[in-house]
Amino acid sequence: MPAIPSNKPFRVGRSRTGLGLFATKPIKKGAKIVRYFGPLLDSKKKKDDAIENKYLFELNNRWTIDGSVRKNVARYINHACKPNAESDVRPRKRKVVIRAIKNIEPGDEINYDYGTDYFKAYLKPIGCKCDACEKKRKKKRAEARVERLRLKEKAERKALKQAEKLASAKAGTRKLNGAKATAKPTVRQSAKAGAKANGHASM
Ligand SMILES: [Zn+2]
Repeated sequence: MPAIPSNKPFRVGRSRTGLGLFATKPIKKGAKIVRYFGPLLDSKKKKDDAIENKYLFELNNRWTIDGSVRKNVARYINHACKPNAESDVRPRKRKVVIRAIKNIEPGDEINYDYGTDYFKAYLKPIGCKCDACEKKRKKKRAEARVERLRLKEKAERKALKQAEKLASAKAGTRKLNGAKATAKPTVRQSAKAGAKANGHASM
């Protein structure tokens, strides 16, 4: 890790995605934090244009800063979708300064938005791990959990209802069979009794 002078308000430390830059002192909104620097690459030169790494900072169509040099501490700053800093780009001066856009407290990780092109090329394929995206993911997981529970309870209620229906239907058939069994002989008996009675009467 690079040595950072103690008068600087940041240090390199472990972050969720590897290394990151963390505030060691309060940084006021609007304050310059660190310069993003490195050799200037000229897109008109074939040799420059062939250079490819994750730390290229495009200033305009022609000039790009190659920030992969170790001394460029700003390269440790991770991307965030809701950052506390921004990259202040001055293409004419060929200069980039990372500036606070919120008050940053000691211990906070310093982030800025890397922009749509970088996001699409490097972050979208693996899933952005910034706080805002992690929170979104967590919320979605929690919502999915609630939905799964709701569906499970619904299925259980349905199963219970069906079981009750089945049980009452069985009980109903039994009652009906019992009624038929006792009813038939009664009718026959009474018919016989009637015949007997008739017989008696004719006698
Ligand atoms: Zn994100």
